[in-house]
Amino acid sequence: MPVRAYKGQPKSPKSRKRWVFFCLLISVSMLFGLGKEPAKDEPIAKMTKESSAEPVSVEADLILPLTPPPESKSTRIMGYIANNENLTEAFMSEDISRADALELIDVLHRDIKRSSFNPNIVRRGDRYELELDSHSTIQSLKYTRQNDRETQFIVERIDGQLKARQENQPLKREAIIVSGRIKDNIWNALRETGENPALLCDKLEYVFEYYIDFYNDCRTGDQFTLVVEKLYGKSGAFVRYGDILTAQYEGDKESFQAFLYTDSKGNRNYYDAKGHSLQALFLRKPLNFTRISSPFTTRRFHPILKKYTRHHGVDYAAPYGTKVWAIANGKVSFVGRKGPLGNYIEIEHNNGYKTGYGHLKGFVRGLRKGQRVNQKQTIGYVGSTGRSTGPHLHFNFYATVNGKYKLINPTRKINRPAGQSIPEKYMAYFHQQRDQYLALLDRKNGSIVTTALPTGVVAE
Ligand SMILES: [Zn+2]
Repeated sequence: MPVRAYKGQPKSPKSRKRWVFFCLLISVSMLFGLGKEPAKDEPIAKMTKESSAEPVSVEADLILPLTPPPESKSTRIMGYIANNENLTEAFMSEDISRADALELIDVLHRDIKRSSFNPNIVRRGDRYELELDSHSTIQSLKYTRQNDRETQFIVERIDGQLKARQENQPLKREAIIVSGRIKDNIWNALRETGENPALLCDKLEYVFEYYIDFYNDCRTGDQFTLVVEKLYGKSGAFVRYGDILTAQYEGDKESFQAFLYTDSKGNRNYYDAKGHSLQALFLRKPLNFTRISSPFTTRRFHPILKKYTRHHGVDYAAPYGTKVWAIANGKVSFVGRKGPLGNYIEIEHNNGYKTGYGHLKGFVRGLRKGQRVNQKQTIGYVGSTGRSTGPHLHFNFYATVNGKYKLINPTRKINRPAGQSIPEKYMAYFHQQRDQYLALLDRKNGSIVTTALPTGVVAE
């Protein structure tokens, strides 16, 4: 299995593709319970005419309820969508006529909302199960997507008519302790815990997205513990991770704790030990960047001007086209060309803050002055317009000092206005949950939580 370095990896489209491919490999090999990686172009073996040997035994074990033994003369066909195959081709490869294949697809189109499932868009690894009667007439189809084993799309012949419906599988939940120490990066550290970093890393990043930049802030020796839900199908096979219920990061510079809490309106957010929301006014960064190519400084040698100038912004190197988002809610106060900054966006936020995003390749379609934008809403794309030698984002961060905007260093600890707190009347309840979580954070990696988890948190 290739090891992908996490830190400082350029996210070029190519490496992103590789990244996606890598994630796919991990998930596929996990699902199939195989230690070895499947050869790149090898299509997933098709199981046909049920008597054939089962090349992927664990898969058969997944949550899908097995169809009751077929009646003597009917035939059951099970298979997977192969690389670059569409649904019609997949069915036809099972000796289903083109007309029958198209009829099945039409029924899916007719009866299932397109937002739930579009039969024109299928992926390698999606699984289907067909049942044919003795005249080779299709009696049923069960379809499960590779990335969502909980939902099944079923077509059945009832009174001679094919009808489609969607069915959701109930999953069994348990929570597990995941803890480790960083040697080089969070990705490898998560791997070493025995969990799947391709599925877990984003979740951990999300918990601390206001505080930790996992690409750049992680140091050797940093420790983390988290409690995450794992969801299993009927037969006990792992399906996916649920929420991270609590997490702790003990870093070289700073330490953080997060506790998931569902408020009275049903919103689920992370809070610190004192009950302050971890959502802050500003996100930690306006994009996923490769590295800081030029920090905030009063003296730097300018590559184009060939002289020392101040650089009162931060340059984040990232591939062309990388999404740039607003780090806080606000109102667009400038969008357009702005001299050396090239394509530039400025956003005014509450509390006298303003942010600027320069050298953009382009703006999000329709972005205009006066428009309100939300935190993490994409506003533009990394480029190299204006006075720039390569693709990067020039990021300006202003605070109001004596009634005037002043550029300050956004990578320093900004005095972030605290997040909302849990209302006083729920505080005792929150503390009780927090203490239950805290007790879990001391447990060994891999421990399964058998005690009841705080109510209102696990339920969905
Ligand atoms: Zn710059």
